[in-house]
Amino acid sequence: MAKLTVHDMDLQGKRVLTRVDYNVPMDEQDGTMVINDDTRIRATLPTLKAMIKKSAKIILAAHLGRPKGVRKPSMSLRPVADKLAELIGQPVAFCEHCVGSSVAEAVDKLEDGGLLLLENVRYHTEEVANDPSFAEQLAAVADVYVNDAFGAAHRAHASTVGVAKVISKRGDPCAAGLLMERELQFLGSELADPDRPFVVILGGAKVSDKIKVIDRLLEKADTILIGGAMAYTFMLAMGVTVGKSLVEPDAVDVAQAALDKANERNVQFLIPNDHVVATLGATGQFESHRVNDGNTIPNDVGGVDIGPETTANFSEVIAGAKTILWNGPMGIFEDARFAEGTFGVAKAVCEATRNGAMSIIGGGDSVKALNMAGLGDQVTFMSTGGGASLEFLEGNELPGVVSLTDK
Ligand code: ADP
Ligand code: MG
Repeated sequence: MAKLTVHDMDLQGKRVLTRVDYNVPMDEQDGTMVINDDTRIRATLPTLKAMIKKSAKIILAAHLGRPKGVRKPSMSLRPVADKLAELIGQPVAFCEHCVGSSVAEAVDKLEDGGLLLLENVRYHTEEVANDPSFAEQLAAVADVYVNDAFGAAHRAHASTVGVAKVISKRGDPCAAGLLMERELQFLGSELADPDRPFVVILGGAKVSDKIKVIDRLLEKADTILIGGAMAYTFMLAMGVTVGKSLVEPDAVDVAQAALDKANERNVQFLIPNDHVVATLGATGQFESHRVNDGNTIPNDVGGVDIGPETTANFSEVIAGAKTILWNGPMGIFEDARFAEGTFGVAKAVCEATRNGAMSIIGGGDSVKALNMAGLGDQVTFMSTGGGASLEFLEGNELPGVVSLTDK
């Protein structure tokens, strides 16, 4: 990687302002906020442990939700400090502010190898506005900067970009954390020249969300497998009836352009050839689901999952792959009746991985689906950055990465 990482730095006694992604899902239980998924906290442990070993004074900055400059108690990071302490097995101090004199005092008390978590940076509107004087205030307590928040790297905010500018300008280093490094490795360098066949699996709700990724991957992939609701927009472009399936009529042109490009470039482009369909009942619930033979979908039903024949076909293609990139579920997997396609493809991806393929999963819902299937640990890499991974796969430079020090 072309950017400095934590491994390259001498951190003995240094105050390291470390941006992490602790935007974890929480629920209120009896008046207190409880973290119901600590994946993002766990994902930072390798970086934190490496820095503790180097005797750094670690100051953690993060955001939670979208408080828009208001101190909303439900969006406080305090519960994260307790959870992190439990996971890492050492105390984590918490400061109710992220800038100002109380932060300076808390940092003064930090011992080498100690951890301090600052309150939600988005309690200040200056964070999202990337306000230069707010960035100066964040940087005031730090000797060096580390960014491990891949999931926030697509945003040019004060704690991701502004502070790196201030610290770089002083001539001090700004480095990638180990999670950031892994994300860039798997979504970037590993896919730059993939082992072939390179099979891309795309699904999810909308073609329009992912058309830039599709366009870019059409230049790299040997095969693209399409599932999820986005398949119906492709079917619409092909003149196939889609019934009440979720479609984007406005995206038919871009879908057609993608089909043309696949044709020109000799990319195998597969859409489902059977479907699970259901009627939408009066209460908004799906009813009387069944497998619909063949490709056309009758007018009274909509497609909610790929069918068993498609799952088998896709699995066969996946079995022959050397590199697999998967973004977007094959159906409405949140409903167990419509999860078989997604779980079937997940099994095929894990099987291929066992046989030596590299498998990379991007997209928040895809990761959720894999974890629901209990297969999260059987792929090569699962990205922690939903929006950020999509933007990176589109080929965009991420501002939070660009602002780090070159090696
Ligand atoms: P990711 O987060 O992995 O990038 P997306 O956000 O693009 O994935 O899409 C996930 C959503 O797509 C899920 O909530 C799922 O229910 C929905 N979806 C998948 N297939 C269909 C379908 N056939 N009809 C409606 N929604 C679908
Ligand atoms: Mg999503």
